[in-house]
Amino acid sequence: MKTIEDLGDLAGQRVLVRSDLNVPIKDEVIGDDGRIRASLPTLIKLAKAGAKVIVTAHLGRPKGEPNPAYTLAPVAKRLGELLQPEGITVHFATDVTGESAQEAVQELDEGEVLLLENVRYDPREESKDEAERGALADELAALADVFVSDGFGVVHRKQASVYDVARKLPHAAGGLVLAEVEVLKKLTEDPARPYVVVLGGAKVSDKLAVIDNLLAKADKLLIGGGMVFTFLKAQGHEVGKSLLEEDQLDIVRGYLKDAGDKIVLPTDIVVAPEFKGDSPATVVAADAIPADQLGLDIGPESGKAFAAEISGAKTVFWNGPMGVFEMAAFAGGTKAVAQALTEVDGLSVVGGGDSAAAVRQLGFADDAFGHISTGGGASLEYLEGKELPGLAVLEED
Ligand code: ADP
Ligand code: MG
Repeated sequence: MKTIEDLGDLAGQRVLVRSDLNVPIKDEVIGDDGRIRASLPTLIKLAKAGAKVIVTAHLGRPKGEPNPAYTLAPVAKRLGELLQPEGITVHFATDVTGESAQEAVQELDEGEVLLLENVRYDPREESKDEAERGALADELAALADVFVSDGFGVVHRKQASVYDVARKLPHAAGGLVLAEVEVLKKLTEDPARPYVVVLGGAKVSDKLAVIDNLLAKADKLLIGGGMVFTFLKAQGHEVGKSLLEEDQLDIVRGYLKDAGDKIVLPTDIVVAPEFKGDSPATVVAADAIPADQLGLDIGPESGKAFAAEISGAKTVFWNGPMGVFEMAAFAGGTKAVAQALTEVDGLSVVGGGDSAAAVRQLGFADDAFGHISTGGGASLEYLEGKELPGLAVLEED
């Protein structure tokens, strides 16, 4: 993959950057700004090289039309605050490739940054039709001289601003994409052992394919979060009102049969009658979940057991919270796992938007971990062994 250095002298050049600025926003207030911060080094590098930096990005799912609920305006503001100490001015265009974008590019000075409005306001961005995506990519390409792909969280998407535009302009991978890929390579090619993978979160079906591939590579696979109950049910246990994906039971039974003792399930579960932060919580054995309750976290005994596996490992990849960490009563398992990751003597990687948000919300510093990935879906697909279109296209000439 070409790097920014391979693009030559960028002074005065218009550089289109695809960043991942998809942060949680509620009532115009940004929650965790980790992704904005992660995008800064590439933007600073380009601006300091004298480039005119044009950033395209998405926020949420506005369904292909302008929708003020998904405007990137608050992100532009935050970006401006974060780049101000560097002496870099940030402008904002109120459309994707229209009049506002074109005028703003015209007026952009060397060393300045322009953020274009949410690229998903344009229905062509996510179109399945190559010609439609190509037309938007042409409009984006017309704004710039070269393209830098730095939105690691979207490189698994075949979208106009990620994939098609790279075929229209001289292109390179940004520093964030390079750094993420380097870590993922370490996880897939000859990881130091023991190699422990911790999976949790809400959707078993999303993460099943990765389990398949990881079972062959990892020494232990610890399962927590909402996924647990499909595994417990597959073993024939009652799971009450817990999250359950019935249509995945057969596949999960297969994993349990093939995995030997590689798959480690929690032995105790924190349950409550309702999905509410103040619902009275109790700890029960994992094989004795009452029919009228639901599991919302792994229990303290499981937290200790998981932590012991993790802290003794040389390589750890963790994706997906162990419980409903957003509610303090059900954050214990996630906290135990996060703490153990900080104690790993080796490589510890946190992947996934909610997992990254969880460790920050629970008060852990970013640098307590070896690496916090900005891309959940992208890192999982990479670990599954899939080809990511947004990376593959960067290897083309
Ligand atoms: P990531 O973004 O890190 O990949 P996911 O999106 O897969 O993680 O899952 C995160 C969500 O899973 C969190 O919002 C959390 O509340 C939820 N979750 C974790 N454990 C449970 C559970 N036992 N029941 C329901 N939801 C859960
Ligand atoms: Mg998530």
